[in-house]
Amino acid sequence: MHLVIIGNGITGVTAALTARRLVPAARITLVAAESAHHYSRPALMYLYMGHLRHADVKPYEDWFWAENRLELVHAEATGVDTAARTVQLAAGPALTYDQLLLATGSVVRTPDWPGQQLAGVQGFIGLPDVESMSRDTQGIRQAVVVGGGLIGVELAEMLHSRGIRVTWLVREARYWQSVLPPEESAMLEAHFREHHIDLQKNTELREVLGDAQGRVRAVVTTTGQELPAEWVGLATGVTPNLVLAKAAGLDTDRGILVNELLATSAPGVYAAGDCAQHRQPAPGEVAVEQLWYTGRMQGETVAHTISGQPTPYQRGQWFNSAKFFNLEYQTYGRVPAAPAPGIASFCWQHPNGKHLLRINFRAADQAVTGVNTLGLRQRQDVWERWLAEPTPIGTVLAQLAAANFDAEFTRQHEPAIRRAFARQFPDIALSKPRRKGLFRMLG
Ligand SMILES: Cc1cc2nc3c(=O)[nH]c(=O)nc-3n(C[C@H](O)[C@H](O)[C@H](O)COP(=O)(O)OP(=O)(O)OC[C@H]3O[C@@H](n4cnc5c(N)ncnc54)[C@H](O)[C@@H]3O)c2cc1C
Repeated sequence: MHLVIIGNGITGVTAALTARRLVPAARITLVAAESAHHYSRPALMYLYMGHLRHADVKPYEDWFWAENRLELVHAEATGVDTAARTVQLAAGPALTYDQLLLATGSVVRTPDWPGQQLAGVQGFIGLPDVESMSRDTQGIRQAVVVGGGLIGVELAEMLHSRGIRVTWLVREARYWQSVLPPEESAMLEAHFREHHIDLQKNTELREVLGDAQGRVRAVVTTTGQELPAEWVGLATGVTPNLVLAKAAGLDTDRGILVNELLATSAPGVYAAGDCAQHRQPAPGEVAVEQLWYTGRMQGETVAHTISGQPTPYQRGQWFNSAKFFNLEYQTYGRVPAAPAPGIASFCWQHPNGKHLLRINFRAADQAVTGVNTLGLRQRQDVWERWLAEPTPIGTVLAQLAAANFDAEFTRQHEPAIRRAFARQFPDIALSKPRRKGLFRMLG
């Protein structure tokens, strides 16, 4: 079997390593345009900030690939003939495949703003973007970041680390309001202000202005301001990379359409990771998943199917984490920006504005449905168990210590968290640890 994988991101590489383990005799070829070797995309910001060297963002030594008989082709795939089962490359002979996996990731999505082609205006998604950003921000004093998601905050932190003043334009009325409840947004906004980030809410980019040399000099906002800017970072989202899939004539929508086995509309062709769109996502799940850990899970799952062990993709419990400057964020289960009907939401905040715990639970039986934390680290295995069982909030709060990742540090908050719960929900009794019979009385 010759498995050809287009894209050497987390999805493609996980699929390659899994297939190597499952089918030791298979020939496996990884085709990648961006870099010869796989690297960690979430670590890119630390390259810019000087916390990591280039070698540190490559999880595997360069000899690893030949040692595991994984053939690397550093080239752009320009076409696929799904009838002849061949992949055309921009340089070099075409590759013949038995099975093909498209793991082509995402591309930056930007509205077509006037002036966005000026020098010093860019998105941030890959290694070339770190290079251009390093070059174009050298010695500058003032930058503008556009877009209020996770890449926006990364850009703000990166620029701040070099002493560059940042104005950050966010379209929404509060930070990441499509995802976070109001208390989390407020805590983060205060945190950004402490880091001297000029967060301008309800504000969008209208136009980028250039100088005589074709370099950015200012931006005009929808609120009518002209803000000086020596560099502009566009962080208004990413979208599945469909170029190759469209050239191959595969069914596409927002992403490359796949069934539960991650198979596309063409025989022997699969798609996974950021570029894939589930035809029928499970209730409450999204059709396009653009996360590191879902890429890894999809890569592992599709490799089983390709290797002759058909395995439907099941994401399981939702979780995610991020870091906002030095404030860590974790979420397990479902914590939407506003609780769904029938769901109660308990929120505790430390008076210092640096720690927050929110637990959502069903009003009917008090079973927990999700947790958000800021500035507190929780154990994933414990929360997955509590969410799967499902566990009443009275039990969870009584046993909160079991979920502490930094037990020494967070233990001190638990009494305050329980007192806050008793104030917010006086009708719900807290359980004593490990006395299960009591919990049935809570409903
Ligand atoms: C700056 C940044 C920070 C992030 N931080 C986090 C984080 O903290 N946590 C998290 O969960 N997620 C994070 N993400 C998202 C996460 O990195 C992606 O979800 C993940 O990398 C997707 O992996 P993938 O393998 O599907 O695609 P990608 O990593 O995008 O890899 C696709 C590869 O395919 C190559 N390719 C595409 N077309 C072709 C072609 N025709 N020929 C050859 N090669 C091709 C591309 O060049 C690319 O290298 C971050 C993303 C960015 C941009």
